Amino acid sequence: MRIAFFDTKPYDKDAFEIFSEKRGIEFKYFETKLNLDTVELAHGFDGVCVFVNDDINDKVIDKLCEMEVKVLALRCAGFNNVDMKHAFGRIHVLRVPAYSPYAVAEHAMAMLLTSIRRIHKAYIRSRDFNFSLSGLTGFDLYGKTVGVIGTGRIGKVFINICRGFGMKVLAYDKNPKEGIEDGESIRYVSLDELFSNSDIISLHCPLSEDTKHLINSAAIAKCKRGVVIINTSRGALVDAEALLSGIKSRQVGAACLDVYEEESDLFFEDNSGHIMEDDTLARLISMPNVIVTSHQAFLTKEALNNIAETTVDNLLSFFSKGECENELCYRGGETKDCKTGKCF
Ligand code: NAD
Repeated sequence: MRIAFFDTKPYDKDAFEIFSEKRGIEFKYFETKLNLDTVELAHGFDGVCVFVNDDINDKVIDKLCEMEVKVLALRCAGFNNVDMKHAFGRIHVLRVPAYSPYAVAEHAMAMLLTSIRRIHKAYIRSRDFNFSLSGLTGFDLYGKTVGVIGTGRIGKVFINICRGFGMKVLAYDKNPKEGIEDGESIRYVSLDELFSNSDIISLHCPLSEDTKHLINSAAIAKCKRGVVIINTSRGALVDAEALLSGIKSRQVGAACLDVYEEESDLFFEDNSGHIMEDDTLARLISMPNVIVTSHQAFLTKEALNNIAETTVDNLLSFFSKGECENELCYRGGETKDCKTGKCF
C-alpha cells in the first residue's frame, strides 16, 4: 500500500522508515502540509498521513474521495483539524490516541519550572558573564495549588508530577474519572472554583466547540492575581488577545505556551529571517514572563517511535482486516472512538 505523508520533518522520516521498512508500507514524504492547494499530491495513493497543522476541511475530504483515497491516518491524538462530521461515511479516519503522555506532561512541568525560576533569563545572563541575581526571584511550588483542566492521559501524569512537588491539585473534567481524587490534596471542583483558587492552571483537554477560548477575559478575571497559565494542549483553548491583556494588567503572572491559536503557518518552521506579521504573538514573545515553545511537547524519542509504530499498525490493520481499533467516527453530533463508542 502507498501512503502520501504530509508535513514531513526529518525526525518523522527517521522514525517512520524504521517501521515502514519492517512492515511493508511505502510512504512518499512531502514537506508541504495537506490543504486544498496541495491535495492533488495525494493522487494515486491509498491513504494520506497527516499531523496537527494539516487542514482537512470538507473540500479537502471531497477531493480525497474523488481520488479514491480511502484512509486518513492522523499521526497525533487530536483531530480538531479534521472536519469529522463531513468525513463520516466518506473517508476512514485513524489516529494515535496515546504515544507518550509523559512527554507532554513533563514538558508542561519543564516550562513551569523554567518560567517561575527564571531559568530562561539566567541562562542568557550567565552566557554574558552577568552573574547578578536581581530580578530572578521565583517562588516555591511546594504547597501551591495547581488547577488541571482535563484529567485524561496527560492530565493524570501531570497531576502525579505535581504531587511529587507537594502541590495541591484542583481538577476539572467534563467526564470526571475514578481514581484521580485522593480524598486529601486532589479533588474535582467546578471550573469557577478552579479559576478562583489556583496559583497555576494547566490545560489538558481537547479543543472542541465547548473548550474554544476556555481561557478568555471573563475566566482570567476570575483567577487569582498573578496566576500562571500553561497551555500544552491546543492554541485555541486560550484567547491570545485576552491573555495579552491579562499579562499587561499583571492579572496573569506568567504564561507558558507550547501551542498558539494561529500557529499553523508559523510553528515547526524557521521564520527567523522573516518579518513577524502576527502582532499578538510578537508582543507575547516580547514579555519577560511569557515562554513560547513551538508545539514541542510531544518531541521525545519514545513518543516519535510510538507514533510511527502505531500509525503503521493502524494502516496495516485497516488494509488487511478492514478495521482498526483506533478509528474515529462521528455519530449523534459527536466524534467518538469507533470501537468503544466513547466520546472525547
Ligand atoms: P485524553 O483524551 O486522554 O484526555 C482528555 C481529557 O479532557 C478527558 O478526560 C476528557 O474527558 C477531558 N475533556 C473533554 N472535553 C472537556 C471539556 N469540555 N472540559 C474539560 N475536560 C474535557 O487526551 P490526552 O492524551 O490527555 O491529550 C490531551 C490533549 O493534549 C489533546 O487533546 C491534545 O490537544 C493535546 N496534546 C498536545 C501535544 C503537544 O505536543 N503539545 C501532544 C499530544 C496531545
